[in-house]
Amino acid sequence: MDAPCHPSLHRPPDTAAPLLAVESVSLEYRNARQEVLRATHEISFEIAPADRFVLLGPSGCGKSTLLKAIAGFLSPVSGSIRLDGREVSGPGPERMVVFQEFDQLLGWKTVRQNVIFPLLAGRKLKRRAAEARADECLAKVGLSVFANTYPHTLSGGMKARVAIARALAMQPRILLMDEPFAALDALTRRKMQEELLRLWDEARFTLLFVTHSIEEALIVGNRILLLSPRPATVRAEVNSERFDLSSPGSADFQQAVQNIYRQLFDEPSGAPAPDDVPDAPPSARRRGWARVLGFMRTA
Ligand code: ADP
Ligand code: MG
Repeated sequence: MDAPCHPSLHRPPDTAAPLLAVESVSLEYRNARQEVLRATHEISFEIAPADRFVLLGPSGCGKSTLLKAIAGFLSPVSGSIRLDGREVSGPGPERMVVFQEFDQLLGWKTVRQNVIFPLLAGRKLKRRAAEARADECLAKVGLSVFANTYPHTLSGGMKARVAIARALAMQPRILLMDEPFAALDALTRRKMQEELLRLWDEARFTLLFVTHSIEEALIVGNRILLLSPRPATVRAEVNSERFDLSSPGSADFQQAVQNIYRQLFDEPSGAPAPDDVPDAPPSARRRGWARVLGFMRTA
């Protein structure tokens, strides 16, 4: 079979249009009392084929909300999201999502069945072809030996690998990943970043990756969109093409971390941060620090 894990082979001919176009997207939640919470405000960006595009911003700023809207699970109150020029109006197999949670796998199915299931449910392939593609994708993430085991017997890193294999097996136009390694220990997280970059190197798929770790953003991404605290707005875009897993010790990398940190947390209006406000209640000061400390939890 011809490289079935390679979504990039299924690209339509190149056109001037971006693969994903997010235009002035605002997203809101409403509670039972109809109070509105604005999660993102007029966000715009474009993703080209084979980009490793990162959304980076503090916890709670609206990253997951934006990713869910791109996945088609919720609709913008204004603005538009287009994939290959077509408006996104619901979930679809061309936008597969990998989440942070370990329980995203079906516990009553084996590893192999977990990868096969969406291929059959989405009528993407007949059984024999689905089995062959699942085996190929599991081999690519180094899990062939565990194909017939159940998710509860796997480590966190192995579950993340199954989720990635399952998503890539569908050959999505874009792979959406929401802090997929955030719950892993530091060593496993690093290993997973390495594996993701290796898979990308082989297949050149298009990736939209959410993280709140500056280091992870610089390592994984070629472009990074910096988002403000909620409601998320675009602060800047950073080119991070030159960094990889070997970069974190370098002066250039440390400088990039500092620059991004400043762009994310300097108050653009000159307004003081909560810790600088003399009358801010202790809880507000704590929240300020919690935001920073939570954010600095790194790769
Ligand atoms: P991030 O992924 O950047 O940490 P989220 O997109 O999860 O942030 O959340 C953005 C804001 O929206 C937060 O204030 C969060 O509490 C709120 N929020 C998230 N999901 C819901 C929901 N289903 N209903 C109401 N508010 C939500
Ligand atoms: Mg989130």
